[in-house]
Amino acid sequence: MTPSWKHLYPLIKTAVLNLDSLDALLQQVVEQITQLYQAECLLWSGLEWGVADALRVFTTPETANRYAVSLGFAYPPPPVESTTVAIQQFRPRSLPTWLFDQQNAPRLLQLKTGDLILPVTSRGSYFGSALPRDRAANSLQFVVQLVRPADLVSTAEQASAGSFRGWTEADIESLEVLGSQLGLAYSALYWRQRLEQSRQQVALLGRVAHLLNSTLSPDEIVSQIMAELGNGLDCDRSLLIDLRLNPAVALAVWDAPDCELPALEPRQIRQSYWQNVIEMFMQGGASYLQLGLQEPTPDPLQVWLQDMGAQSVLVLPLFVQGEFFGGIALLSYRYPRSYLIDELQTVRQVADQAALALTNVQHYQRLWQKQEELRVQSSTQRASLRDPLTQLLNRRSLEQELEQLSLSAIWTVSPIFCVIVCDIDYFKPINDAHGHPVGDQVLQAVAKRLQGQLRRGTSAYRYGGEEFAVILTDTPLALALDVAERLRQAVRSTPVLTPAGSLDVTASFGLAQRDLTTDRTAWDVLQHADRALYEAKRLGRDRVYAIDPSREANSAAFSTETESATQFL
Ligand code: GH3
Ligand code: MG
Ligand code: MG
Repeated sequence: MTPSWKHLYPLIKTAVLNLDSLDALLQQVVEQITQLYQAECLLWSGLEWGVADALRVFTTPETANRYAVSLGFAYPPPPVESTTVAIQQFRPRSLPTWLFDQQNAPRLLQLKTGDLILPVTSRGSYFGSALPRDRAANSLQFVVQLVRPADLVSTAEQASAGSFRGWTEADIESLEVLGSQLGLAYSALYWRQRLEQSRQQVALLGRVAHLLNSTLSPDEIVSQIMAELGNGLDCDRSLLIDLRLNPAVALAVWDAPDCELPALEPRQIRQSYWQNVIEMFMQGGASYLQLGLQEPTPDPLQVWLQDMGAQSVLVLPLFVQGEFFGGIALLSYRYPRSYLIDELQTVRQVADQAALALTNVQHYQRLWQKQEELRVQSSTQRASLRDPLTQLLNRRSLEQELEQLSLSAIWTVSPIFCVIVCDIDYFKPINDAHGHPVGDQVLQAVAKRLQGQLRRGTSAYRYGGEEFAVILTDTPLALALDVAERLRQAVRSTPVLTPAGSLDVTASFGLAQRDLTTDRTAWDVLQHADRALYEAKRLGRDRVYAIDPSREANSAAFSTETESATQFL
């Protein structure tokens, strides 16, 4: 049977009518050509993207095995099941020189080895003579390499001048027609695919904009943005990293659900990996960076890439309110991924949205506090959030507040805050000497004195038996010290009147300021304050003790008055 393009035409037509994927079309073409022309067929695709990473070769498993070594194929994905023959896609490591010639001037030709090279372009006819260079540019879609077994070549009609060894004129003619039909079909499917991609990207941007207006917490918004990005751009892992701190902080990590990736280790977000990139971004040198393992210039980030076990990464800088914040990293583990220009534009826009989400965090936090106050004021909630004895907010409420302050998206952008903890001195002896009800009255009096010193919007919490806490948002340590000192004076100012007589009461105070470099959550700050309280007790009680991160340990103590003792660690 003399092969004719007519055998393949129904297949091509069906593919276009059914809007099949490009891959599906190419697979079928390889399968049919292999059978029809009794030749091995290697289809070099992805040439129109203009990046080496996008190159893939479709072929049958037998041919793939034969060429695996000589062409240095890498990253073979699992074979794709086709109707009759399994077709494999390979990523070649090195490119044959004839492929470059075809890119410059696509034309049907025979290599010295006897292989027939059939270029398929978007510009129609290329046979007879090569297309003019300007028309040829970027028009090459894929190239079919046909290899006939030696015996077939030798028994075929002897080549006449200008014809092809081992191939009949009818073969060549049918291949030429096949090539132009394929070019048209490929163009139709290619542009449909591009259109579909841009449609998806517009939809992605829409969903991200929607997220920004949602009532989710900033942590959830940032996480979901990263998930949208990872899903939409088909990478294996997406990261949002705050690079202002060392070690850097991964604010959100998304992993593709279908691939099991090694867990992200703390050392992997070390700032040193990022130093060069940070400098580059800070100088405004680039709006993105694509990095693979084969890049010629070794950069610490490449070491990072290897450390992660990934093949390629796309990094985008993130600026929040004009200040460098960090980056978004899209990692590909299964094969090196390169991004098209319109995909890069989409990622850039999403990155800007993420920056906006982080900017909103500060406003959000204030809003949240307002809502929380309103919530606390509502009488239905009061019972569960207030302590019945002192009417102060209870431990659960303090936990909620600390939880909120610890949200990682808020954590690094929120203004400084301090935590004060307070414990009544020698309280047990009051209980022991006068009974529990008297002890309760002392607790009520102290609670009232503490809350009385705080301005509206700042709450004292009863977080233990005779322990209280105050969170001073947006307050540096020096101011918080004044507040703590005021609280101490208020507790001791006048004796507490009880049925058992008037009792002198004092309390000790521990104070700590949020330290961005060492603290990870608001709970850490509370712990420092607790440690300070322990020191205040140890040093004799009735005093304020503060942990100041900016000072060396054991620095000079100071006191506000003779009997007062306010101290720094
Ligand atoms: P220090 O100066 O070291 O804090 O001495 P302290 O006696 O205050 O310390 P300790 O923590 O040993 O005593 C706390 C006491 O508070 C023990 C507990 O019986 C009492 N307490 C806890 N909750 C209540 C309460 O609701 N009412 C009363 N009356 N007493 C309480
Ligand atoms: Mg206690
Ligand atoms: Mg006590």
